Amino acid sequence: MSMAKCRVCSQTIETTFLGKLIGTTIRKDKKQHTVCSKCQKKLHEQDIKDHL
Ligand SMILES: [Zn+2]
Repeated sequence: MSMAKCRVCSQTIETTFLGKLIGTTIRKDKKQHTVCSKCQKKLHEQDIKDHL
């Protein structure tokens, strides 16, 4: 299992014991970007896209 990093804050995103990311993925420019749950709560989706 690879370690995913948040594209906004660069922190490693934690996973559940099943390996599911605690956070979300956002599609931009045909790529999936991983975002941690903290940044997901803090920022709106458009704001996150502006950070990518
Ligand atoms: Zn983050």
